[in-house]
Amino acid sequence: MLTPRPVIMLFRDDFRLADNPALNAAHASGQPVVCAFVHDPDTQRPGAIGWWLNQARSALAATLREQGGTLLEVEGTTPEAVPQLAKIFNAETVFWNRRYDPTGKAQDTQTKATLEAQGVCVHSLPGRLLHEPWTVQTGSGQPYKVFTAWWRAVRDMPPPGRCVSAPRTLTFAPWPKAAHALAEHAHTLPPHTLPEGANAAEQDWPCSEADAHDMLQEFIENNVARYSQERDRPDKDTTSRLSPYLRAGLISARQVWHAVEDAVQKHGHIAENAWTFLSELGWRDFAYTQLFYHPTLATENLRPEFNDMPWQNTQKLLHAWQQGQTGYPLVDAGMRQLYQTGWMHNRVRMVVASFLTKHLLTDWRKGEVWFHNRLVDADPAQNAMNWQWCAGTGIDASPWFRIFNPVGQSEKFDPTGAYIRTWVPELRHLPDKLIHTPWKADPALCRQIGLHLGKTYPHPIVDLKEARAVALAHYKNLPARQ
Ligand code: FAD
Repeated sequence: MLTPRPVIMLFRDDFRLADNPALNAAHASGQPVVCAFVHDPDTQRPGAIGWWLNQARSALAATLREQGGTLLEVEGTTPEAVPQLAKIFNAETVFWNRRYDPTGKAQDTQTKATLEAQGVCVHSLPGRLLHEPWTVQTGSGQPYKVFTAWWRAVRDMPPPGRCVSAPRTLTFAPWPKAAHALAEHAHTLPPHTLPEGANAAEQDWPCSEADAHDMLQEFIENNVARYSQERDRPDKDTTSRLSPYLRAGLISARQVWHAVEDAVQKHGHIAENAWTFLSELGWRDFAYTQLFYHPTLATENLRPEFNDMPWQNTQKLLHAWQQGQTGYPLVDAGMRQLYQTGWMHNRVRMVVASFLTKHLLTDWRKGEVWFHNRLVDADPAQNAMNWQWCAGTGIDASPWFRIFNPVGQSEKFDPTGAYIRTWVPELRHLPDKLIHTPWKADPALCRQIGLHLGKTYPHPIVDLKEARAVALAHYKNLPARQ
């Protein structure tokens, strides 16, 4: 009997065995499978996200080893490396889950054309989102521009398809000599290290498919029932913390959706909170819809009137913001949490982004780049959409004149200062009332608790009232608005 030709399963940002449509289809072909990953210099990101994706890939490789297989890692650009692999293995078909970012889309189009010219079939499947961007449209066939309308349309649609289980036993294709040589080369590539100072990330983010499901279960059991009330409270820290796992595809959005829906079926009283949570997952899809239709989401204002914004881009202020040394405790707590752990609570992300763009009049793209380098969940769609949302430059964005007051936000969402005390320890002995405004503390009290403003903790780097007035005036004077 003739040995069947192998098929290739190409992993990228979908480092899981369960609910992985491309892997499932490769397995269902009944042919031996080559599990492959390309170290592609055109799509690799530096920073914490590079480290995190590397961890996720290693976890997948370990799981495959337990099943008697090996993840074949090769170096090269995807459009060159994948057709080369197909030749080496004489593969019949290549399977992958779809990408939606401009580089990924362009690469996949090119790779598919080359493979098909070689006589190799390509199957690209939907594995990343709840719904493909082009399947949620207005009555006139246009993409939605407003989230609430998009979300209403999603809720009127059938739920995302049911999840598929991990293949029970994968049949791995034997490797020819040339494949071993490529794999050996890939093993000599330098490791992705965490950026300087992100020492807490390793212990904060256990990395495997099983860890992702443990996080989800813990969230469902303990926190989903109070999500609406507590999701804005960084001091409580009760959101799911699933973003890095979704980013690396250690868990799928569909798995999260159905697990939460199943919990609602069993415990009806959590329904309202559960739907608020699912709507956040909806924002993730909505971000991908924006990126799909606006490939320059991370680099161009979606509202062109902002092209004339006279950003001040003062390097000293940007540096103080990056280092968590602005003199505004909530901003500094958030920026230090980001620096040390690779993650920041959503409410605080909004506050620091508003502060950078409006009070410091710094171009949102500088914040986007900094976040992309420091976040373990750095995502091309979610990061870009949210920065444009906070800066008011995006579609369905928070308007420019909505300027968060970092003190008011701090008093409201971290009332006892517990979050600030964790990340800004030099303020921890201040009473609750003063922790949001250390500059108001009596000098005698400061001496007593060892707080030396201007030395151990900075004075505020801008005056909130003045900075706000300047930000509003700049917007009012934009030529396109005249
Ligand atoms: P939960 O509250 O438990 O929400 C569940 C999931 O819903 C999240 O894991 C995430 O996938 C999705 N989600 C939640 N809020 C949003 C949102 N506002 N937009 C899109 N999806 C959302 N999220 C990223 O995953 N990667 C990023 O690079 C990123 N950059 C951001 C930059 C800024 C300036 C802001 C304001 C927000 C950004 N977010 C980003 C969105 C949000 O802050 C994080 O998804 C959230 O804090 C992750 O924590 P969680 O998993 O506990 O969220």
